[in-house]
Amino acid sequence: MSEWKAEQSTTGFVQVRGAREHNLKNVDVDVPRDALVVFTGVSGSGKSSLAFGTLYAEAQRRYLESVSPYARRLFHQMAVPEVDSIEGLPPAVALQQQRGTPTTRSSVGSVTTLSNLVRMLYSRAGDYPKGQSIIYAEAFSANTPEGACPTCHGLGRVYEVTEQSMVPDPTLTIRERAIAAWPQAWGGQNQRDILVTLGYDVDTPWQDLPQKQRDWILFTDEQPVVPVYPGYSPEQTQRAVQRKQEPNYMGTFSSARRHVLYTFSNTQSAQMKKRVQQYMLSTACPTCHGKRLRRESLSVTFAGLDIADFSALPLKQVAALLQPYEAGTETRHAQHAAHDPAQVEAARRIAEDLRARLAVLLDLGLGYLSLERSTPSLSPGELQRLRLATQLYSNLFGVVYVLDEPSAGLHPADTEALLTALASLRSAGNSLFVVEHNLDVVRRADWLVDVGPQAGEQGGQILYSGPPEGLKQVEASHTRRFLFPPQAGRPATAEPREPAGWLELAGITRHNLHDLTVRFPLGVLTTVTGVSGSGKSSLVSQLLKLEVRSPREKAPTEDEPETADELLAAEGDDRDQGSGALAFSFSPDAAPLTRLVQVDQKPIGRTPRSNMATYTGLFDHVRRLFAATPEARKRRYDAGQFSFNVKKGRCPNCQGEGFVMVELLFLPSVYAPCPVCHGTRYNDKTLEIEYNGQNIAQVLGTTVDAASEFFADEPPIHRALTVLREVGLGYLRLGQPATELSGGEAQRIKLATELQRPARGHTLYVLDEPTTGLHPADVERLLVQLQALVTAGNTVVVVEHDMRVVAASDWVMDMGPGAGDEGGQVVAEGPPATVAKAKASKTAPYLRRFMG
Ligand code: ADP
Ligand code: ADP
Ligand code: ZN
Ligand code: ZN
Repeated sequence: MSEWKAEQSTTGFVQVRGAREHNLKNVDVDVPRDALVVFTGVSGSGKSSLAFGTLYAEAQRRYLESVSPYARRLFHQMAVPEVDSIEGLPPAVALQQQRGTPTTRSSVGSVTTLSNLVRMLYSRAGDYPKGQSIIYAEAFSANTPEGACPTCHGLGRVYEVTEQSMVPDPTLTIRERAIAAWPQAWGGQNQRDILVTLGYDVDTPWQDLPQKQRDWILFTDEQPVVPVYPGYSPEQTQRAVQRKQEPNYMGTFSSARRHVLYTFSNTQSAQMKKRVQQYMLSTACPTCHGKRLRRESLSVTFAGLDIADFSALPLKQVAALLQPYEAGTETRHAQHAAHDPAQVEAARRIAEDLRARLAVLLDLGLGYLSLERSTPSLSPGELQRLRLATQLYSNLFGVVYVLDEPSAGLHPADTEALLTALASLRSAGNSLFVVEHNLDVVRRADWLVDVGPQAGEQGGQILYSGPPEGLKQVEASHTRRFLFPPQAGRPATAEPREPAGWLELAGITRHNLHDLTVRFPLGVLTTVTGVSGSGKSSLVSQLLKLEVRSPREKAPTEDEPETADELLAAEGDDRDQGSGALAFSFSPDAAPLTRLVQVDQKPIGRTPRSNMATYTGLFDHVRRLFAATPEARKRRYDAGQFSFNVKKGRCPNCQGEGFVMVELLFLPSVYAPCPVCHGTRYNDKTLEIEYNGQNIAQVLGTTVDAASEFFADEPPIHRALTVLREVGLGYLRLGQPATELSGGEAQRIKLATELQRPARGHTLYVLDEPTTGLHPADVERLLVQLQALVTAGNTVVVVEHDMRVVAASDWVMDMGPGAGDEGGQVVAEGPPATVAKAKASKTAPYLRRFMG
C-alpha cells in the first residue's frame, strides 16, 4: 500500500478527497504542486473553506502532530478539517489577511526582521563617540532592558497625573467623589474612610482644602495602614480612634497617583486600564525625546544618523543610503579604514544583506514605509505584502504558501510587482495556493480552481479545476463571464452625472499631503485612485473631519483605544497630524450635507458578542417577536430574556458568548465552544420558547437567505434581510460572530445597515476599497447599491483600485504620481473619460481598457 501511495504522491498533485468543511459538498479535487494555483468563486462559495479551512488546516495539523504530543493536546480543541484524505500535501505557510486589528506592538522592522540587521549594523559598524566602548545589538532595541530609555522604559512617552487630571471638578467634596481617579464603589469608599481616620475633612469642597493636604492625598508615596470604621461619622471615628476601639479592619492608604500608575502598569483588565488612563496625561519623554532608547545607544551613529532617525527613513531612502557602503565607495568610512578595516568590512557585509532584503520590499511597492512604522497603522494588504517579502528572502523551498487576496489594496501597476514576487517563490520550488478575485492575477494562474456556483448552501462545489483556458467551457461559472467577456471587456458606461455643487478642502496636511487644496463634487459617485501609498486614504480621511449639521454618527467599533498598545499605536499615527489649518467650504449652489457616514472594513465588534444581527438592529425585532409568543408572555419574559448580553436569559457559564477562551501556553489563545450551552449562548429556560417552531438560538443559526423566508411576514425584519441579500451576504448566518467575519463582510454589513435606513439624502458616504474580498459578480451588485445611494441624493466617495468601479463613477481623483514623498498630489481629475487620457496618470492606461 505504501508503494502505491508513494507513486501517487510523486505525480506532482495534491489530492483532496471528500472535503466537507463548512459548505463544501464532499468534493474531490487535484491541484498541482510547484505552480500558481488560484481559487476563484463568488464570496461565500467556499474558496477559503477549501484553501485555508481544508488544505492549510490539514498541513498545520500534520505539522503539529509531528512536533510534539504536547502541542497536539493543546490543539485538541482546534477543529480537524472535514475531509476524508489529502495526499501529497507539502508543509504550508499561510499569509492570511489579518482579521480585526492586531493588538501586539510590532513594527515594519520587527515583522520583516530587518531591525535585527540594522541593530547589528549600529553595533558593529556604527560610529561611537570617543571613549565609548562597543555595545551589543540588543542595546539598540527599546524592548530590552539594555536598550530602553530609563525614564520612559522604552515607551517614548511619559505618563503623568496632575491635580486637574485626577480631580476634574474641584467644587465637589471628597465624599462626593472629587477624586475621580480613585477606584469606584468599595475601593473608593475605603480610601475615603481611611482619610476620615487620618483626620482629613471629607465634607469641604476640594478647592477649599489646604494645598499641602491636597498634595499629600493625591501624590504621596506613603502608604499608612490605619484602623477603619465604616459607617461612622468623622466625629465618631475620631472618638473610636482615641478610645482605641476595635476597628472593622485595617486599611492601607494609596494616593490617587499611586493607584492610577500602579493600575496602569499592572492590571490585566483592559477595562481597568482604560478607566485609569483617562486621568493620565502623556507627553514625549524628556530624556529620549520619544526615541525610546537610552543615551548611550542614541550616541552611536551611522551615516550621521542615530538609529531612531535611521528607522524613520522611508525604506527606499535606506537602500540608497547604504549603496555606497555596499559598493565600498563611501569615503568617510574609507578614511576610517586606515585604523579600523574590520568596521568597514562589517558595514559592507551588513549593507549588502540589508539591501538584498530591501530590494524585495521595494519591488513589492513598499519603499515608502519606514522601519519604525507600527503595524496596526498598516492596511491588511500592506501587512500581507511585508510578510510575503519576508518569505521571499527566507529561501524556503518545497512548501505551499496559502494566500488570501494578495492584490488587496494594490493599484494595477503594483499588481505587476506582486506577480513577479509570486513567480519567484514558485521558481524557488514552492507551491502557491491563492484565493483571489483580481482578474489580472487570475489570468496569470497556472491552474484555476473555480468554486460555486453560488454562495453558502448553493455553493461548495468544484466547478472547474485546470488551466485557465478550460474555464471557458464551464457554463455554471460566474468567473467565466468576467475572465472571458463576450465583447472585449468593455461594460457599457452611462453618461457621468453632473455635480450638484462642490465641497472644497483647503490646507490639507497629513502624512505625505502638504497644504493641499482639493474639491469633491457633491451628489455624484467619486472614486479616488492612485498607486499604493500615494495618499488616497490620507486624503479621504480628512473628509471625516467635516462637521455636519446633525452630529456625526459614530459606528460602534470606533471605540477609544482599549489597551495601552493601541493607545501608543494611535498616538504614533497622529504625531504628524497637520497644523489644523484645514478648512471646508461649500460652493454657493450646494445643498450642505446633513450626515457623514464612514463605511470601513474595521470589525463590527471585537468579541463573539457582536454579530450581524445585533449590529444591524434586526435582532431587536426578532427578540420582540419571541417575547410576544404566548408561552413567553405566560412566563413574563420580556425581550431582554432573549438577549445573550443580558443575564436572565443567557448561559451562565459563558455569559452568552457561546465560546470560552482557552489560554494556551506559548500560543495565542483560542475560543472553544462553551461546554454548558454547546455554543447556543442561552440557558435552557430561554431555549424552551419557540417562534414558529424555532428557538432563538436556531434563528441565530440560520442564514440570511433562509431567514428571509422564515420572516417573510415581518416587514421590518424582512426589509433588513433583503438589503443584506442585495449586498451579497445572503450566505451569512444571523449570529455569525464578528470575529469570524472578513473585513469585506464587515464593510458590507455596515453598508447594508445604512441602506436599510429610510432615504434621507444629503449624506456623504466614505468608503475605503469596498471591493476587497468581492468576486467581480459581487462587485456588480455593490455598484448597483452605490449608484442607488447617489440617485437618492447622496454623495459617495470611494477609494478604489477596481477599474470597473472607477469607469462606472462620475468623477475620478487620481493621486500620485508615486508613493510616499513621491506622491501626495492630485495628478488628474475629472470624469473617467478625461482621466483615462491624462498623460501623467499611472491609472490612465488601466482605466482606458474599461472605457466604452
Ligand atoms: P469564500 O472564501 O468563497 O468567500 P468561505 O469558504 O469563507 O467562502 O465560506 C463558505 C461558506 O462557509 C459560507 O457559507 C460561510 O458562511 C461558511 N463559513 C465560513 N467560515 C465559517 C465558520 N468559521 N463556521 C461556519 N461556517 C463558516
Ligand atoms: P494610499 O491610501 O494611497 O495607499 P496612504 O494615504 O495610506 O496612501 O499613505 C500615504 C503616505 O502616508 C505613505 O507614505 C504612508 O506611508 C504614509 N502614512 C499612511 N498612514 C500613516 C501612518 N499611520 N503613520 C505614518 N505614515 C503614514
Ligand atoms: Zn525616554
Ligand atoms: Zn455557554
